[in-house]
Amino acid sequence: MIVAEQKPVAEILRMIDGYRRILVVGCGTCVTVCMAGGEKEAGILASLIRMAWAREGRLSPLIDVSEATVERQCEWEFLGDIAEKVAASDAVLSMGCGAGVQAMARMFEGKVVLPALNTKFIGMPERQGLWTELCAGCGDCVLDRTGGICPIARCSKSLLNGPCGGSQNGKCEVSKDIDCAWQLIFDRMKSLGRLEALGTVLPPKDWFKNRDGGPRKVVREDMLL
Ligand code: SF4
Ligand code: SF4
Repeated sequence: MIVAEQKPVAEILRMIDGYRRILVVGCGTCVTVCMAGGEKEAGILASLIRMAWAREGRLSPLIDVSEATVERQCEWEFLGDIAEKVAASDAVLSMGCGAGVQAMARMFEGKVVLPALNTKFIGMPERQGLWTELCAGCGDCVLDRTGGICPIARCSKSLLNGPCGGSQNGKCEVSKDIDCAWQLIFDRMKSLGRLEALGTVLPPKDWFKNRDGGPRKVVREDMLL
């Protein structure tokens, strides 16, 4: 899932300063699960904006903060449902991830769409209130060679062959709070009886499959119309 967190309210208020009719749009998928931008959070943010504006004496019949939530902001077919509300607003405050914000901006051409969240990473909930990064979307997965533990996202240096000399008692030299990914990989490979596979040095990574080649695309020729 994509993990995000809400921007500070002061930053959001600065962003929407000058607009009178704001539509706060939640997303019902990843950001609902990570409790950053779902229906509940959209309602809370809309209320916070109303309260802040009321404190400033800005509320009047001409000023309005409304809210709506779609199932997925990153797919156009879900956005038609809010077209009327978007048309009635001066600015849309998206609580989707960066893809959701951009999908809304493309769908509602000419409408100001602003991000209420900071999109952080692809990850999973570790326990209540804690989400961790698991994948950096490198475009050339090596999990088959690392026991299902990602060295790109989880090693602080993204080392393809580790550990580095800073690994101490299973922890990363960057912080005692961070497990050394390569220690985790070693332990996992050992438990799988595959330790000998770590003797094969992984070749330098082709970063062209990552960001160096510009915006990436996935094309399925069999599905193109
Ligand atoms: S190797 Fe690349 S694709 Fe695979 S989990 Fe890590 S970052 Fe993601
Ligand atoms: S200590 Fe481990 S996780 Fe940290 S940079 Fe070195 S190999 Fe990577």
